[in-house]
Amino acid sequence: MAEASNFIEQIIDEDLAAGKVSAIQTRFPPEPNGYLHIGHAKSMFVNFGTALKYGGKCNLFFDDTNPSKEKTEYVDAIRRDIEWLGYSWAKEVYASDFFDVIYRYAEQLISEGKAYVCDLSPEEIKNTRGTLTEPGVESPYRGRTPEENLRLFRAMRDGAYADGEKCLRAKIDMASPNINLRDPVIYRILHASHHRTGDKWCIYPMYDYAHPICDYLQGVTHSLCTLEFEDHRPLYDWVGIELGFSPKPRQIEFARLNLTNLVMSKRYLKKLVEDGSVHGWDDPRMPTLAGLRNRGIPAEAILDFCARAGVTKANSECEIGYFEAVVRDYLNLRAPRAMAVVDPLKLTITNYEGEEEVEFEVNQLDPAAGSRKIVFGKTLFIERSDFSLDPPPKYHRLRLGGYARLKSAYIVRADEAVTDGTGKVVEVKCTYFPESRSGSDTSGVKAKGVLHWVNAATAKDAELRRYDHLLRDADYAGQDFSERIVLDSEHIFAAKAEPALFEKEGAYQLMRTGYYKACREGEKFVLSEIVSLKDNFNK
Ligand code: ATP
Ligand code: MG
Repeated sequence: MAEASNFIEQIIDEDLAAGKVSAIQTRFPPEPNGYLHIGHAKSMFVNFGTALKYGGKCNLFFDDTNPSKEKTEYVDAIRRDIEWLGYSWAKEVYASDFFDVIYRYAEQLISEGKAYVCDLSPEEIKNTRGTLTEPGVESPYRGRTPEENLRLFRAMRDGAYADGEKCLRAKIDMASPNINLRDPVIYRILHASHHRTGDKWCIYPMYDYAHPICDYLQGVTHSLCTLEFEDHRPLYDWVGIELGFSPKPRQIEFARLNLTNLVMSKRYLKKLVEDGSVHGWDDPRMPTLAGLRNRGIPAEAILDFCARAGVTKANSECEIGYFEAVVRDYLNLRAPRAMAVVDPLKLTITNYEGEEEVEFEVNQLDPAAGSRKIVFGKTLFIERSDFSLDPPPKYHRLRLGGYARLKSAYIVRADEAVTDGTGKVVEVKCTYFPESRSGSDTSGVKAKGVLHWVNAATAKDAELRRYDHLLRDADYAGQDFSERIVLDSEHIFAAKAEPALFEKEGAYQLMRTGYYKACREGEKFVLSEIVSLKDNFNK
């Protein structure tokens, strides 16, 4: 067995050593009320990852106890996203699969005097729960007999009451220092259709009550969840003990993943989608897995990030720049290089005729990638910012009378700038040096700058998209989400791109430009930013 690499694995090792468990079973428990985001990737990394490490199993458990917000569309999206990340679940399970058993357990608690039907309104229950310093007030319905409770609970189930008119509460301790143990509601009345059970039920179990039961019924040994459930653990344990579960699943909490500049709550993400602030759940600016995938971020890079961020017991916020650095490192080693120019400027080589193939190294960091041929010619495009009539000091790009190397090809000298009526440069005329070809340069001509270019004869017109972060950075952290959202965060540019980019769609490093996903959208050629070339986040 590999050494424990975090506190959860240490606990599991202890449980194994003590003989409390023999095989490890976990579950990843999304609520199907939205798309998964990168925070969920962390939860999957912990749940699936731990099971894998111990040769155990991890179920996909849909926590669908909240019928009004859940949809089959989300179930499908969640499945797709988990598979994309590369995980496979042992079983697909729904809380709703267990509604009958969960109900019977409630009757058992009632019969044993451990639960009662309460007529207080949700408001009254809240107001009598007490505070951290004061105990709660016992409900006047707390003393009902098991027989009466059973009759009322069955009437609740049979639809005799309206939403909120009654509920079932666990009878624990209104003076407990832990507010979650002050007779928590375990069933509520909700006349709502469920995405799987339809109208069969009009009462639904509460998460804190249903979850330990579902864990137990699935054979979960370690129920791994985020820190906000730490205070709920005594209730989780109460349910297991009172219902006599053996072996009782063990809940362990870890810190959520929070990233600066991103919203990580399904509720907010849903709002962005619904109010049209983004193009959809899979908008490349969204922190959803669908968005990250659409952005061109490889699943392996996300898992690598989760591994590096680690599993801890203390909440913290991770810089988005760190995530981007992990993605950049990943792509740097793997993404083929290619050329595209933004805001193209025509460059004509007056002493060159015809065309020829030159060798372009696919990825200098990956010798196995080799090189490919690109066609050089008389008329090219370079980036407008790579030529200046009035260059600042230390400008190593092209100026009149100056030299620059065209990547993988020749050194050129700029001789003349053609301008339009407004003085804007529309063409640069150059001379090239035949002996300066890359790889066999005997020209003796010196050029400091290397410029990327595309051949005008074959270049594709492409739409290049750049993105800002969806939220303004940490300086704004205290402010309301609506104050921090950057609505104008997608920027579109016209570009000229090598045709090779669209022969094999995927992630590329566009020389001197950034990491981009090349793809076709109908008739359109699109280059969509994955991550910048360098870390310009803190500038
Ligand atoms: P949200 O607040 O985004 O709606 P949630 O916790 O309500 O998230 P669930 O579908 O209930 O979403 O989450 C499934 C699992 O993923 C839970 O165990 C939850 O603790 C975990 N999870 C959710 N967000 C994060 C996060 N940011 N980091 C780590 N785990 C997370
Ligand atoms: Mg939740």
